[in-house]
Amino acid sequence: MSRRAGILRELGLGPLWRLRDRPAAAVVPESAEVAPEPASAGAGTDDRAAAIARMDWSGLIDAVKQCSACGLCRARKQAVPGVGDPQADWLFVGEGPGAEEDERGEPFVGQAGKLLDAMLAAIDLRRGEKVYIANAVKCRPPNNRTPEAGETAACWPFLARQIGLIRPKLVVALGRPAAQTLLQSEVKISAARGRLFDYQGIPLVVTYHPAYLLRNLPDKAKAWEDLCFMRRTMGKL
Ligand code: SF4
Repeated sequence: MSRRAGILRELGLGPLWRLRDRPAAAVVPESAEVAPEPASAGAGTDDRAAAIARMDWSGLIDAVKQCSACGLCRARKQAVPGVGDPQADWLFVGEGPGAEEDERGEPFVGQAGKLLDAMLAAIDLRRGEKVYIANAVKCRPPNNRTPEAGETAACWPFLARQIGLIRPKLVVALGRPAAQTLLQSEVKISAARGRLFDYQGIPLVVTYHPAYLLRNLPDKAKAWEDLCFMRRTMGKL
């Protein structure tokens, strides 16, 4: 079995889906949808956001690790800033750390992480090589609940600074909380996938979170379509 066939089998897709060596005609919309400037998290946060916006990488990582700007700091073992190539072309943004991520200090290291790695491999990407992986919130929400709006708002300046430092060619929002954080609007993944958005001049696409795909196996085929769309989009950049 070829490496790609093995990856597709792990994704639960083979033999239905095959990645063409030469992508088919792209279906990138002619004009991307532009996300509004993300809102401030509230009064008293502007100075903090401005300070974070000036941080270099080491200052940013230290600030994340010491942060207590929202209640998620109370139950965490450690904050999980992100991992990967600081000059990545691809930025993948998930929701927040889970139990294993909280334990190990790295995003996407559990079962969802294995699936994300397989998804990356399917489009010839590897964690850490032109790829950076981060989350909308850097600390684990208790019982893996969805982060609350106030928590994503409090954590937003860190993600915004990561994007500013990396300046990726393409941002991929994994799941609804990440998409809503980045696009500052209500997002339904089923309606947003396959469309090209814009985050401050950087193309942005939306797909399912790997943890969702583990619970909803039929949607893996849609995720595969999204991977092909991402690759076509990157090929045009
Ligand atoms: Fe700070 Fe973000 Fe952790 Fe909240 S989730 S404590 S804002 S690093």
